[in-house]
Amino acid sequence: MILKTKPADVFKERHNGPDKEQMQEMLRTIGVESLDQLIEETVPSAIRLKKPLNLPNALSETQFLKKFASIAKQNKLYKSYIGLGYNDTILPAVIQRNILENPGWYTAYTPYQAEIAQGRLEALINYQSMVMDLTGMEIANASLLDEGTAAAEAMAMFYAQRKGSRKSATRFFVSEQVLPQTIDVLKTRATPLGIELEIGDHRSANLQDETLFGAIVQYPAADGEVFDYTDFINTAHEQEILVVVAADIMSLTLLTPPGEMGADAVVGTTQRFGVPMGYGGPHAGYFATKDAFKRVIPGRIIGISVDAQGNKAYRMALQTREQHIRREKATSNICTAQVLLAVIAGMYAVYHGPRRLKYIGVNIYALTQQLESGLKALGFEQLNRQYFDTLKIAVESAEMKAAIRTEAEAAGINFHYFAKNFIGISLHQATELQDVKDILAVFAKVTGKSAAILTIDELPNETELKWNDSLIRTSDYLTHEVFNRHHSEHEILRYMKFLENKDISLVHSMIPLGSCTMKLNATAEMIPITWPEIGSIHPFAPADQVKGYKQIFEDLESWLCEVTGFDAMSLQPNSGAQGEYAGLMVIRAYHESRGEGHRNISLIPSSAHGTNPASAVMAGMKVVIVKCDERGNIDVADLRAKAEQYKNELSCLMVTYPSTHGVYEESIIEICQIIHDNGGRVYMDGANMNAQVGLTSPATIGADVCHLNLHKTFCIPHGGGGPGMGPIGVVKDLAPFLPGHAVVKTGGEEAIHAVSAAPWGSASILPISYAYIAMMGGEGLTEATKVAILNANYIKARLQQHYPVLYIGKNGRCAHEMILDCREFKKYGVEVEDIAKRLMDYGFHAPTVSFPVAGTLMIEPTESEPQEELDRFCEAMISIREEIREIEEGKADQKNNVLKHAPHTAQVALSESWDRPYSREKAVYPVSYLCDGKVWPTVSRIDSAYGDRNLICSCAPIEAYNENNNEMVAVG
Ligand SMILES: *Cc1c(COP(=O)(O)O)cnc(C)c1O
Repeated sequence: MILKTKPADVFKERHNGPDKEQMQEMLRTIGVESLDQLIEETVPSAIRLKKPLNLPNALSETQFLKKFASIAKQNKLYKSYIGLGYNDTILPAVIQRNILENPGWYTAYTPYQAEIAQGRLEALINYQSMVMDLTGMEIANASLLDEGTAAAEAMAMFYAQRKGSRKSATRFFVSEQVLPQTIDVLKTRATPLGIELEIGDHRSANLQDETLFGAIVQYPAADGEVFDYTDFINTAHEQEILVVVAADIMSLTLLTPPGEMGADAVVGTTQRFGVPMGYGGPHAGYFATKDAFKRVIPGRIIGISVDAQGNKAYRMALQTREQHIRREKATSNICTAQVLLAVIAGMYAVYHGPRRLKYIGVNIYALTQQLESGLKALGFEQLNRQYFDTLKIAVESAEMKAAIRTEAEAAGINFHYFAKNFIGISLHQATELQDVKDILAVFAKVTGKSAAILTIDELPNETELKWNDSLIRTSDYLTHEVFNRHHSEHEILRYMKFLENKDISLVHSMIPLGSCTMKLNATAEMIPITWPEIGSIHPFAPADQVKGYKQIFEDLESWLCEVTGFDAMSLQPNSGAQGEYAGLMVIRAYHESRGEGHRNISLIPSSAHGTNPASAVMAGMKVVIVKCDERGNIDVADLRAKAEQYKNELSCLMVTYPSTHGVYEESIIEICQIIHDNGGRVYMDGANMNAQVGLTSPATIGADVCHLNLHKTFCIPHGGGGPGMGPIGVVKDLAPFLPGHAVVKTGGEEAIHAVSAAPWGSASILPISYAYIAMMGGEGLTEATKVAILNANYIKARLQQHYPVLYIGKNGRCAHEMILDCREFKKYGVEVEDIAKRLMDYGFHAPTVSFPVAGTLMIEPTESEPQEELDRFCEAMISIREEIREIEEGKADQKNNVLKHAPHTAQVALSESWDRPYSREKAVYPVSYLCDGKVWPTVSRIDSAYGDRNLICSCAPIEAYNENNNEMVAVG
């Protein structure tokens, strides 16, 4: 007998949901003969690619992991004592396995649907409390992208909040001892806002200068010296100057917190709380401030509210969707942040608790003292009078500095080499006494002295803090129960699982979020993330130690150029919105280079994502809105009129393709032409790349710049609201302006300043996208796009008899997503929110609610969902439609019904006093598939407005919270 052979591990068959038979059936349901026919009817032929993607042949998972291991091995695992905002740390194994490597955590979405996100919301509130406690501030957000951008956000916030005598001041003082990459990011952000930076020594800063509105200092300073900023801050405050302190979170376990020195804001990174350096990221930047600024804080804040039963419930507070609501009036464009990393850092604090955390701080300090005395014994001068973890060693000559460097690198050690004759050494949690001895051996060898300077075998039991009293922290921190309970591994394991089980993620069901592309995050793609060769690399490690990363960047850049049709890429922006900002800054620099710096109008269609206008304003542009027609397409006549009206000031158009309405606009080529004819450039928001890859491309369409949300199209998981990556691709004449970096050279000849703190943004998650492309190959990627369109059109075919579908292409097809119009149900009191909440009872996360059109749902199934899952979702949606019909037909009450009361918790369903006009079974088991297993929401409908009036953003004990309520209701 003859049997066929075929590889059994073809990755695209794992990534794409439907198999061949399912596809045939789905095509029949849609009413087309073949996938190619569907694509022809959907994607306009004028924009189709003429050639298939030219990418390396697809690898299987096994082949990929083997190949990638050999690339990763080219990164050398040196011990880095470089510091400068990045320090080695120990991620507790229990957290690594159960959060960082656990899809139950990393595949979740941003917690907009709070009732099925209580786990990560609690984890984030822990994080906020931790930041508030350690910094000594009144309120903290749930993370920003990194320390550099957090500092820039503080500057922008202060600028918007200038007051009194400084109302029209435009200068911002920057201590020269702020981290170099932070200064670089501040420069980028300052220019378009019209802010001038004054960089100098804070001890001689002239704060009487009326043109200053704010200041930033670093604590401990970049070279390791610890200054007491109390006087500086007091003087600044007398002049109505606001001060932000960039502070090292670990040092705050021992040092007086900046809040107690009077700081108006404190920013930094929580990287060294268990998050691997990862060659620059991702890590959670933190941002804490005074209560007075609570309504203008950038990013997201988690707060406590109540649910319909009066139980405590968490949700995002206040400016949650700031850009969507305020658009061009938004002060910040933060959308994706660093939730997963904030969760890890917060859990690190929960696990260690205040006592162990303090020991970690003390041990680092004690080792640094040992190192100092050893170096002194070798005859070296140490310049930091007060330090936490960083020494500054004077060396007598450049030759000696070079000799130490050679010796150190031979021993596998990196220090920070100042431009002058100083060497910086920063110790960290992973440093042991033997490491201190190894460091001393390097210095000893160069001086020809004995290496046996440090003869002890264990760290002494005690160490003395040799700081001025004012710098020694006396206040408690992390006193809340959550930080004082989960210290054994069983406790923390169960706590993490307890939280995880409250949330819906991709491990439960499809998350059909339009615009957000929640596709498969394959395990094989995730594996390399926790390899030390990827995770344990300092972003400022010398080039010859990071050849693996170099190859990863080069390959990925060239592949992404192939996919987009562009000439060059920057991997620096660490979110989509940062990509927008970076791209617009590149366009700005381009116009300036041609003596056309006055071009500052950005045309943005009314349907654009809220980050677009927010980014444009950050880049110093004026936003002019372009209308959309009734089919959801850009109104070309209006666009032409505005482009011509502003032809002397036109900077760019920001356009999403396919449009946020889920349609391939036929007129896109003409649209780009109009902009070019009027001297502008075209910025494409690449969030919808999943509908382009292999079929068309931004360059083909006529765009000049485009960001790619690698956490949407290219498989980086959403992490519950970050991390993400938003690299930008550009055409040739924009390449010289791609972002540079103050420490490591990146970007073009005329590079703009840095947009992220790290040279390649969140470098350590790039392997995910690398893996995806390597395992799919050009053909697989193209097929994924086609299947994404197939899946969307299948849902459309199944649901369109039940819900009106807004905006379709001319052949009646949608792109990779579609909008269901729910506005007509308002007549019966049913809001789109009610449908979103009811879906939770069916085990689903809602589609995107009210974007880009209020009162609608935008559904994007992605290619990764098999037909069974699409059917299950359709069954839920159809069943909900029947529930709405009961209200329409008067069989159910408009206020007291199964939708209005959704979601239903087990507690509600089992309560003694069930008095609803529908059955308990209908409430919680409305369809049969739920009987096999069900994710129970743990809270009922949350009252968001209540929480905004009574803002509590830390893990206050419930009693305190109830007491506060009364008091705060009276105020609010
Ligand atoms: C997701 C999204 C963005 C923002 O990207 P982030 O990575 O969240 O900053 C911008 N535009 C559109 C259309 C999006 O869907």
